[in-house]
Amino acid sequence: MSIVANSINADRRVHGWCALCRSRCGCISIIRDGRLTAVEPDRDHPTGRSLCAKGHAAPELVYSADRILYPMKRTRPKGASDPGWSRISWDEALDTTASQLLENARQFGPESVAFAITTPSGTAISDSIHWVERLMHAFGSANNCYGTEICNWHKDVAPTYTFGTGVGVPDLDHAGCILLWGYNPNGSWLAQAQRLADAKRRGARTIVVDPRRSGPGVKADQWLQVRPGTDGALALGLAHLIIAEGNYDADFLRRQSNGPALVHSKEKRLLVEADLSRNGSISACVGWDQACSAPALLGRAVSTGGSLPDWLLEGEVEVDTLNGPVVCRPVFDHYTVMCKDYAPSKVETITGVPAVQVIETARLIWASRPVSWYAWSGVGQHTNATQTARAITLLYTLTGSLGRVGGNYQAARLPVPDLSGLALRTSRQRALTLGLASKPLGPPKDSWCTSDDLYRAIIEADPYPVRSLLTFGANLLVSHAGTRRGAEALKMLDFQVHADLFLNPTAAYADIFLPVNSPWEREVLRAGFEISPQAQSWVQLRPAVIPSRGESRDDGWIAFQLAKRLGLSDAFWGCDQEAALREYASATGLSLETLRANPQGMNADPESIQDASQEVGFATPSGRIEIWSETFRTHGYSPLPDYVEPALSPVSRPELLAEFPLVLGSTKPHQFCHSQHRNLPSLRRMLPDPVMEIHPDAARARDIQDGDWVRISTPSGSAHARARLNVWLRSDTVMGQHGWWQACEALGKPGYPVLGEHSANFNLLVDDMEADPISGSVPHRSGLCQVTRLAKQQDLEELEGTGIDPSSAQLQQTNNL
Ligand code: SF4
Repeated sequence: MSIVANSINADRRVHGWCALCRSRCGCISIIRDGRLTAVEPDRDHPTGRSLCAKGHAAPELVYSADRILYPMKRTRPKGASDPGWSRISWDEALDTTASQLLENARQFGPESVAFAITTPSGTAISDSIHWVERLMHAFGSANNCYGTEICNWHKDVAPTYTFGTGVGVPDLDHAGCILLWGYNPNGSWLAQAQRLADAKRRGARTIVVDPRRSGPGVKADQWLQVRPGTDGALALGLAHLIIAEGNYDADFLRRQSNGPALVHSKEKRLLVEADLSRNGSISACVGWDQACSAPALLGRAVSTGGSLPDWLLEGEVEVDTLNGPVVCRPVFDHYTVMCKDYAPSKVETITGVPAVQVIETARLIWASRPVSWYAWSGVGQHTNATQTARAITLLYTLTGSLGRVGGNYQAARLPVPDLSGLALRTSRQRALTLGLASKPLGPPKDSWCTSDDLYRAIIEADPYPVRSLLTFGANLLVSHAGTRRGAEALKMLDFQVHADLFLNPTAAYADIFLPVNSPWEREVLRAGFEISPQAQSWVQLRPAVIPSRGESRDDGWIAFQLAKRLGLSDAFWGCDQEAALREYASATGLSLETLRANPQGMNADPESIQDASQEVGFATPSGRIEIWSETFRTHGYSPLPDYVEPALSPVSRPELLAEFPLVLGSTKPHQFCHSQHRNLPSLRRMLPDPVMEIHPDAARARDIQDGDWVRISTPSGSAHARARLNVWLRSDTVMGQHGWWQACEALGKPGYPVLGEHSANFNLLVDDMEADPISGSVPHRSGLCQVTRLAKQQDLEELEGTGIDPSSAQLQQTNNL
């Protein structure tokens, strides 16, 4: 039923979508003689206009000789250069895993078992992450070392402290101005990049903030080349100009934000009703009604229409409180004064963006409203990331575009059940997430722990011991900072199980390896493709286009099988995955049978779609957009997002400049899924070696030619890469790449050890001792470094590959058993 016959060449053409990244591009898989031979765009699909090289490389991924096709156990000690992998049955693999986890839980509590799940934004775990999370929640584990602070937290969670929601969906079809901040959709979200190009063609103006000129930055109306990590100062400077020129939506601020809320001048907190009357609320904010010359309760946000008090936004008033008269100023006034400190000249000094460009951009934002906005890792991978994210959300608030046509909106929801099982978490479990004490508003609030906190728990049993780890596709040693500590921690675990298509350096420490199939070998149900209202209502049951190779299975099947052995059937539909899918599908108004008969996907029943637009700005403590965050204040953080230098910058650490004079940022090579797939020839051919981009002037000063091997050194370590000259970079900034470890035998391209002299591991360069105080983000994109040309270029080629895959020959034998 899921197959469309092609009468000309008798190929089978199977509808689906590529699950390898957040774009989830609609595609058609071509099957010839039972083999996947090609993948094409499905242009009738809401995300199917084109595919990137990764999607087109699907046949190479599926049939890669490097895939592990059978469960394995190690037979040699952890840390041995050859784990001595030995093929075992699924029953042995799953039974061993379940009994180890139960034994750890019995001795040390279920929190002694942690998970590390790779990212659904850039890998195929997006097909199954909900099932793995459900397993974690049902088992009682308190920790998923997920890397959210490296990836999405600063766009999806940090804005909740301002808006009560994440960044939402930019209405690219109607936006007059599109602001992209530290985000290149060409490399991270192809379907959104296409809509952006459409918007540009119809005349939308684009503003791109990025230290590196790439993607939409190339043709942007304004490309603002910030020094890495100084984005917060730029946001405050733009806000200053918008306010100073009166180009902000005052009516929106009065109705929707806590800008009018009065701040107690002595106690530096919001004035509340309890300050004015004995039985008053201790949380209800107070504004100043100019018409009555009196304080009044601000109340929750009100949308357009109707009358509202003439709230004071700027100035000073004296308010009679129960403790006597208190001088107060509105929140917006405090924000204005803070922003005033970021005049264009100062912004230029801090960020490197010319003052005149800051002025032009501020005017463009206002003149070309409504504004849509999106940000990603370029904002998040710094030690000041959370307040930077807040500064950007406040700048956006000034435009009054949030929730309006052409602005950002919350995607409509389908009333599908939460498969990840958040409700299964107990309060004890939530309280035990590692790092919650030091980062109470950060990722640990949602059961996500940082690798730093995980390693501490494993190595030092602080605050409690973690003894087992389930790594689903994760590659902690290459994707997170602190590689040395990570290797030490993995070696100390009682037990590690790794589920994946391929071995990786993190899997090399596992006791059990579980072989995962590719997205083309599994059936998956998805509701919602995000980029537009039509895409968001799209529901699709993607069939397996070929049988699973060997004994590989999908992560969801593994979660269900482990749940059965761990006594968690009740939380897993009696361990009947079909029953779970049936319940999920029915919430969209569509049955599994209907979806199987329509593998191209279809719109959900319109009756089932829930409009979330009315919720914008409401899910904060005040029920308003919070320019001033009392939540931050009561936790010891600044309630307004004043700018703080990155922890390792030329300004904050001038004593390091003699040895490390360059600013080190990083980029994600769009040819690969993070640290995966460098073994696939068509992709590796496009980017054969790790690259570090450097300005020609900086290269010349170091006798570096384009293509030379160089060593990047930081106070934390060193790694090597090939130099690529980039005239569009600042001359004091270089850009590395993360994720390099894997060999590509077909091209004779070597792998790299994750540690040591010949490593190309970018994370050896990153200081994991400095972190954002709220989110725990470490300086992946704003450190200090020196770059030197390697004297023996030829020797380096010969030395490569010294640490990788010593057991590849043995793996081949294992697969052939
Ligand atoms: S952008 Fe590429 S990797 Fe991502 S879903 Fe589309 S085809 Fe797959």
